[in-house]
Amino acid sequence: MTSRPVHAKPEMKSDIWELHTSGQNQSSWFNDTLQPAKFEKLSENISVDVAIVGGGIAGITTAYLISKSGKSVALLEDGYIGSGETGRTTAHITHALDDRYYNIEKNHGTNSAKMAAASHTSAIDFIDRTVREERIDCAFSRLNGYLFLDPTDNKSSLDKEITALRNAGISSAKIESKSPLGSKETSPCICFQGQAQFQPMLYLTAIANKMSQNNEVKIFTETHAQEIQTVNSTNVIKTNTGYSVTARDVVLATNAPIIDKASKIYDKQVAYRTYVVVAEIQKNSIPSALYWDTGNQNSDDHVKPYHYVRIQQTGNETNDLLIVGGEDHKTGSPNDRTDFDTKFKNLETWMRKIFSVDGPIVYNWSGQVMEPLDGLAIIGPNPGKDKNIYIATGDSGNGITHGTIAGIILHDLILGKNNPWAELYNPNRNIR
Ligand SMILES: Cc1cc2nc3c(=O)[nH]c(=O)nc-3n(C[C@H](O)[C@H](O)[C@H](O)COP(=O)(O)OP(=O)(O)OC[C@H]3O[C@@H](n4cnc5c(N)ncnc54)[C@H](O)[C@@H]3O)c2cc1C
Repeated sequence: MTSRPVHAKPEMKSDIWELHTSGQNQSSWFNDTLQPAKFEKLSENISVDVAIVGGGIAGITTAYLISKSGKSVALLEDGYIGSGETGRTTAHITHALDDRYYNIEKNHGTNSAKMAAASHTSAIDFIDRTVREERIDCAFSRLNGYLFLDPTDNKSSLDKEITALRNAGISSAKIESKSPLGSKETSPCICFQGQAQFQPMLYLTAIANKMSQNNEVKIFTETHAQEIQTVNSTNVIKTNTGYSVTARDVVLATNAPIIDKASKIYDKQVAYRTYVVVAEIQKNSIPSALYWDTGNQNSDDHVKPYHYVRIQQTGNETNDLLIVGGEDHKTGSPNDRTDFDTKFKNLETWMRKIFSVDGPIVYNWSGQVMEPLDGLAIIGPNPGKDKNIYIATGDSGNGITHGTIAGIILHDLILGKNNPWAELYNPNRNIR
């Protein structure tokens, strides 16, 4: 069995990678051959129809869709493509929402829960289609997802969720008395069919390279958007390179908003830190699926810390990687600066208990997740007087589908088309 050092990170030509991402340790998506995608810095003043800030799943998907409409598009990223949370995700692609359908139905009504379900299902299908149409080799696969109980929870929460799932139109979800792992800790569970996973950096990099090579999108990395000025409905983004981008429409796909004076979006969502450990496992020793538990119900946080698990196939003939996440807490809460080792240790202990794994831990890392107070992402026009500025934030742990939904909604809004989900995710709604 080969083992790589924990805290693995790519060898960058320059040593500034850490300045451009949200944690020190690198994720398992980067390796000797896959480095974060780098483009030129902005080195002249340019003018385009649409300027997008942020090279994660939301920014890249929005750029991809809008560029197909014939509009000129520029994308600015202060690190490299995937520098942010998309390079640190675990990339479960699912309509099993971690805010739970019974909460969404209770807070927003059945119709909204139906729209949320439809939007996430469409996002999975969108990624599937894009992978096929663009022939992206990113280890995309469809698989089932299994939601089982945390020991602090009881079966009624699975019953509530299955009823809410039916109401939301996800009729294929079923309660199963035994999970594929067969253990009492993971049974009973809800089985979600037709979920997916991929290697997120291969997906992002492939789309970014294609858009750039076909001259569909001008991509600039190491280009930080510092300030946005609006003059007569036109926006000018000033950057750290000394040059600016002028555009009628600006999309801030920065994970958390970078202009907040009027919108006060920071009051409407809470940043959580989440942790991941990865162990080597023997190939095919664990049924390939997405696994989640329902979270620690004794936690005071509005988002109950839960575990999320998947397998990453490797090129290695004998081993795969088991990726286990969890241990979330509010960013900045006491101890979080000193407690990383405990978080990683807790995750490792849980992983070894539930999955009977004895292989070495080969990666660990952490990242940040924005949790909206009302459980729905925040996608659309920036609240306040800003004209033609759009935001995409409030992903919860479902940012791969939310980022994709953001691309679809923002494309429609910018092109003046109706979008069936725009009202559901509208940043101007009353979020509490
Ligand atoms: C450990 C972890 C596990 C997760 N697991 C899952 C999962 O399994 N499934 C799922 O659906 N979601 C998951 N998520 C959530 C999901 O990964 C994120 O919500 C999603 O990737 C966010 O995408 P984004 O494009 O909005 O933001 P990002 O990927 O963070 O992209 C934003 C980009 O904007 C850039 N930027 C910021 N400010 C500026 C500026 N001023 N100028 C220029 N550029 C700027 C940043 O450098 C960054 O690259 C997970 C998150 C974490 C941290």
